[in-house]
Amino acid sequence: MRLKTRLIHGGIDGDPNTGAVSVPIYQVSTYKQEAIGKHKGFEYSRTGNPTRHALETYIAELEGGARGLAFGSGMAALSTILSLFNKGDHLIVGDDVYGGTYRVVTRVFTRLGLEASFVDTGDLAAIEKAVQPNTRAIIMETPTNPLLKVSDISALADIAKSKNVLLIVDNTFMTPYWQNPLDLGADIVFHSATKYLGGHSDVVAGLVVTKDAELGEELHYVQNAIGGILGPQDSWLLLRGMKTLGVRMEEHETNTRALAEWLSKRSDIKKVIYPGLSGHPQHELMQKQARGFGGMISFDVGSAERADEVLSKVKWFTLAESLGAVESLISVPARMTHASIPAERRAELGITDGLVRISVGIEDVEDLIEDLEQALS
Ligand SMILES: *Cc1c(COP(=O)(O)O)cnc(C)c1O
Repeated sequence: MRLKTRLIHGGIDGDPNTGAVSVPIYQVSTYKQEAIGKHKGFEYSRTGNPTRHALETYIAELEGGARGLAFGSGMAALSTILSLFNKGDHLIVGDDVYGGTYRVVTRVFTRLGLEASFVDTGDLAAIEKAVQPNTRAIIMETPTNPLLKVSDISALADIAKSKNVLLIVDNTFMTPYWQNPLDLGADIVFHSATKYLGGHSDVVAGLVVTKDAELGEELHYVQNAIGGILGPQDSWLLLRGMKTLGVRMEEHETNTRALAEWLSKRSDIKKVIYPGLSGHPQHELMQKQARGFGGMISFDVGSAERADEVLSKVKWFTLAESLGAVESLISVPARMTHASIPAERRAELGITDGLVRISVGIEDVEDLIEDLEQALS
């Protein structure tokens, strides 16, 4: 089955009991047992629920892994992954990861005894050097937010294998439509399904897929023990949203490329960052490891004042955090998603006050360009 067909017919296709073409919402907590321990595969909905099970089967298939698991948010997914480790274990985490990832590692899990080093995953020598005898995993994101830096998943997987540590990839920005980290050697892939997978700004969810069944079983044990599961209604919303992932991602990308090319020609824009542009430093690496470049773009309008002006004038770009939905969202990372990072560190990273990030939606790109044109002039 090819990818676009898998998106429509993959996982559990409809309801075998009634012929319903969509998986029903099993709004239920417990299941009748014929005799003690004799049941149809479901006992209690924290452990397993048919709607969630359909979603978990579907994402496992899309990412090419053995086991999928669905959680109440991306952070619940990551926290469950982190709960695989023991006090005294060390993690290497990308130095440019999602702020919530940084927060949960440094403010919650280090309190419980995990150790962490934040290292640039684009610097393979630095990663190799950061591995300690107690290192258990490397956690990475590619491309990163909002600077869209790309790291080499295969090369990091080679390092991880040689050092006997797990490679864990946050694939939120790419989705399985464009990039499959497990095929490139990662052990665990996870998503904030709140973003592109849901795609409609109407659900908060997290998904995890493990390459092998044994690790999947271990993770299911922790999922059931902690209980941060996704409910049946939200599981259904994700199943519904993901059916159109292919058409949405194609459209996001077409629009983003058009915007990137248009912005690149303007003399009042200091810098345009999009991995799909041939001038992006890791353009070729991205081409090698992904099938597309995604729908996120960042550009520098020069100053905080100018950024404010643009934001106040745009009509079709909603000023909001989050990303990956059908509507275009605009933000200024320095004062929104990345405000908690000290100014000095932001400058080091290149998150300037004039940096504007857009999650490009699937509106008509002519309208988007016209709108930015009037906002910039
Ligand atoms: C949003 C996001 C998360 C966190 O996911 P939630 O669903 O908000 O908990 C993790 N990683 C990335 C890259 C994200 O964009």
